[in-house]
Amino acid sequence: MVVAYNTPQEKITSVYATALAQFDRAVRYLNLDDGIAEFLRYPRREFTVNFPVRRDTGKVEMFTGYRVHHNTVMGPSKGGVRYSLAVNIDEIRALSMWMTWKCALVNIPYGGAKGGVVVDPKTLSRNELERLTRRYTAELIPLISPKMDIPAPDMGTNPQVMAWMMDTYSMTVGYSVPAIVTGKPINIGGSLGRNEATGRGVIACMVEALKGHGFGKSSGDTSIVVQGFGNVGSNAAGFAHSLGFKVVGVSDVSGGLYNANGLDIPALRNYYAETGTLAGSALGDEVTNAELLGLPCDVLAPCAMEGEITGKNANQIKARMIVEGANGPTTPEADDILNDKGVFLVPDILANAGGVVVSYFEWVQDLQAFFWDQEEVYRQLQRAMARSYYATEQTAEEYGVDMRTAAQILAIKRVADALETRGIYP
Ligand code: NAD
Repeated sequence: MVVAYNTPQEKITSVYATALAQFDRAVRYLNLDDGIAEFLRYPRREFTVNFPVRRDTGKVEMFTGYRVHHNTVMGPSKGGVRYSLAVNIDEIRALSMWMTWKCALVNIPYGGAKGGVVVDPKTLSRNELERLTRRYTAELIPLISPKMDIPAPDMGTNPQVMAWMMDTYSMTVGYSVPAIVTGKPINIGGSLGRNEATGRGVIACMVEALKGHGFGKSSGDTSIVVQGFGNVGSNAAGFAHSLGFKVVGVSDVSGGLYNANGLDIPALRNYYAETGTLAGSALGDEVTNAELLGLPCDVLAPCAMEGEITGKNANQIKARMIVEGANGPTTPEADDILNDKGVFLVPDILANAGGVVVSYFEWVQDLQAFFWDQEEVYRQLQRAMARSYYATEQTAEEYGVDMRTAAQILAIKRVADALETRGIYP
């Protein structure tokens, strides 16, 4: 599907407005020169491409793709590729901006990027998906390289899509370049632990948060609801379950399941892997996604998509802690309501940073052609998550702000400091 170009006014959609509002909220605490704040506020480069793909029927169809580099002060840009009908330039801008702050927050030497194609991947055959991926990658060649911009999986893409991207880039330059993408299959230079990393990091953050802001309960008495059962949600639920927490609610796009005594997460993961849906599993009481967000629980982990917790439903949330696995699941209006209710929120750029942390490990391993074992990956991931969690908590105390604003303050400050050291070119 080709996207019609928007008028400038139409471009301000809510997810980008959310990213900008969060930035504006945090930047007030930093004594930045107005020009520097403006520089950090806008994407550096935006790329739109309309490209043809031959369908299996022989017909040629046009698709629209994007890649945005938000900021490259700290190093090459890094960010996922999303395949979804909801992809639009504003969403990609917002996600690329969050990547800049996320990488700075967890102290890895990357800037922020994001890409996407306007397509429902479920409507393509495997061969069509491969041709679409290869052509999109070929169009991105001037913008990507292991030294410039390194894509990774996001919603609607997976390790196989990364393998096709890696192969297309390698065929173009004439030699194998594993470090061009992360989140690849292990047998072509992927990292052990990358697939589980984001969900695992979400729960690692939750465990740290419960130490200081918990409810005096044992893990077996601490109830968790997870929205979204894809890469992030299913791994978060699985890791929480393996640590002995009680996962009482889960959902995917088809709806949710609830059991106050705890769901059988391994059985649900098997069912989801076989069927691609939670619907019809009969492994819990059915609830809608709207009901799921309001279920009684200690911790809510939104791991599906942006804009799920809004001014309209924030009041219905009964969880006392929110740990954001998805990017941008909570709007600024909802943030205010949750803060007033005393809900402790661990923000996306901190809680879901485990994915980019292990992507960074994958890139380092590829560049050195020296691979780590899974224990080493998990150990380093745990260290990075705990260190970043406490740095954010300390910033929250220092500035007297909530965790989201603290995470943004810390990240923006690091990028601004690096910019000051490098200077403005020329
Ligand atoms: P995915 O495509 O693997 O899974 C998405 C899941 O959400 C699916 O189970 C889908 O059914 C469900 N879903 C979609 N719409 C929903 C809705 N309205 N209500 C409930 N469930 C819904 O995607 P993913 O990689 O797990 O990414 C999820 C979120 O996490 C996105 O915001 C993504 O940007 C973010 N994220 C992903 C990674 C990663 O490493 N994959 C890293 C950081 C952040």
